[in-house]
This record gives sequence, structure tokens and C-alpha cells, in this order.
Amino acid sequence: EIAPRGPFATGLYSPAFDIYSESRLTLMSDLREALQNNQTELYYQPKVCLNSGEIVGLEALLRWHHPERGWVCPSDFVPLAEETGVIRQLTHWAIGEGIRDLAGLLREHPSLTLSINISTRDLASRELGERLSSVLAQHTVDAERLTLELTETAAMEDPEKGLRALKALADTGLRVSIDDFGSGYSSLSYLKRLPASEIKLDRSLITDICASESSRVIVETAINMVHGLGYRVIAEGVENEETAHLLREMGCDKLQGFWLCHPLPVKELKNWLAEHNEAPVRTRAYSRILT
Ligand code: C2E
Ligand code: MG
Ligand code: MG
Ligand code: MG
Repeated sequence: EIAPRGPFATGLYSPAFDIYSESRLTLMSDLREALQNNQTELYYQPKVCLNSGEIVGLEALLRWHHPERGWVCPSDFVPLAEETGVIRQLTHWAIGEGIRDLAGLLREHPSLTLSINISTRDLASRELGERLSSVLAQHTVDAERLTLELTETAAMEDPEKGLRALKALADTGLRVSIDDFGSGYSSLSYLKRLPASEIKLDRSLITDICASESSRVIVETAINMVHGLGYRVIAEGVENEETAHLLREMGCDKLQGFWLCHPLPVKELKNWLAEHNEAPVRTRAYSRILT
């Protein structure tokens, strides 16, 4: 995580946080190259509906194989890509790759939807909407099949403009999901104005609901509030059966997490989906919490 915004944010110059330091600039030029040279790949993590047990969606998660550094985690470069503007190239690439894979998966699994992570930064330009509509058209995929997961990593510079941009995207049929809700900058007053259809509860809220009564109260209240506002709710970072069970009892609509499945490359994901090959797709793990 990048704490201070820019080198002078704390009043003290700190090379470790200097976004213009040489190693960070090198990382960003490496990322630009990687996006062009097939060193990046999208992995997909399934989401299960807690009512039906169906696999209803996938989230695309970026993986970068750096020739010298090995695997680099998104949390190590996405914030930097946002700071430097390289995020636009990243998002452009992810949209092309993700929708192409989705088009292929829809032939076997026509009810799937795909979520792509976007940054509030992407909302500042017209590029996003244009790119989405052209790639969807190219692969003849309906806009309803695609969800944009928006994280508030930074307070929006111009929230009104951001909201208008989101509204315009939602008007084209795309779904909007608010990612990592309950962490960072997401505020309640802003929540009621969002053209979203889904709110995703942050992993930090979910992790200890089995152990902590107060976490349970927060999550249950959040689920009720989100439902009251007319949105669907999904929990991320579900790592065990007990947590899945509890979320189902609390009325959570969907979940994803290592308990259900780790993020997988598209080939492995196809096998995983085929293994759960009833129509509708049901997961064995899920059937254990049905009762
Ligand atoms: P996120 O969108 O909140 O994604 C969820 C993260 O949690 C992913 O980490 C995923 O691998 C991880 N995860 C899933 N299930 C579990 C679980 O049960 N336990 C734990 N401990 N972790 C779990 P990942 O792939 O490292 O991505 C980190 C963040 O980087 C994402 O958070 C997202 O904000 C960002 N990111 C990833 N790919 C993209 C992308 O293509 N574009 C943009 N703009 N951001 C991306
Ligand atoms: Mg996400
Ligand atoms: Mg998330
Ligand atoms: Mg998260």
C-alpha cells in the first residue's frame, strides 16, 4: 500500500514513498512492456450464489510474470499504476483479454458473468466506455454479462464527474460492483447515490466473523443495509466452510474465496467448471453447506 500521496505528503522526503524514484519508474516501464509482450495473464476466481449453489460469476485477477523478479503481486504494482497513469493501459489490456476469454466460456456456460477490476482513475476519461463497447461488440457479448468492480483506492478527485461516468456506463447495461466495501474511503452517504447493482464486502470484514461477535454484527448489519438500499451483496475472502455457512445464514447473496476455489488460469478454470458440470453448475463444496 502507498500511504502518503507523493513525496512531500508527510512533510518529510522519504525515498521509499517517492513515486518518481528510479526503481518504481523502471517497474512501470516494465509493466507497459509486459502488457505488450504476453508476460501478463488473467486468472479467474469463481463466485457462487448462496441461494442456488450455481457458479454465477468470475472475477478476473491480473498476474504478472516478471523476467527477473518472478511473480509480482497486483498489490505491489496496481497502486503505483494508478499513481502514474499506467493503469489505463492495464485496464485496456484487461478488457480485451477478459472479454475474449468470457466469449469462449459462454459457449459452455451461458449464464456466467465476468467482473473486471477498474480504478476510479479509469472513470476520468472517455476511453473506458469506448473500449468496453467496442470489445463487447467485437465478441458479440451482451453488456449484461460484464461487471465493473470499482475500488476506491483514493478519494475521487471529482466525485460528481465519477458518478456521472459510472451512470453512463450503467446505462449501457453494464453492471457496477463496489469492491472492498468497508475498507478505505467508501462512505455511507456516497453509497446511496451509486448506480451500482452489487456491493462487495471487504475481506477484512469477513475474515474473523466466526471468531468475533462484533465482526458478525458489522457484517450482518452491512448485509441488511445493502439489501435495504436495493443492492446485492457478495463477500470476498471466504476461506472456510464455517464462514460460508454463517454468511448464508445472514442472507448474503454470493461469495468467493479460497474455500470455493483459488484464482485459476483460463485452461484450469475450464476444467474446474467442467468438473462441476451439472446444469446449473453446482459445486461439491457448496452442497455441504446447503443443509
Ligand atoms: P480485489 O479486487 O479485492 O481482489 C481480491 C483479492 O483477494 C485477489 O488478490 C485474490 O486473489 C485474493 N483472494 C481471493 N480469495 C481469497 C481468500 O480466500 N483469501 C485471501 N487471503 N485472499 C483471497 P490479488 O489477485 O492479489 O489482487 C489484489 C488486488 O489487486 C485486487 O483486489 C484488485 O484491487 C487489484 N487487481 C487485481 N487485478 C486487477 C486488474 O486487472 N485491474 C485492476 N485495476 N486492479 C486489479
Ligand atoms: Mg475485485
Ligand atoms: Mg475486492
Ligand atoms: Mg479486497
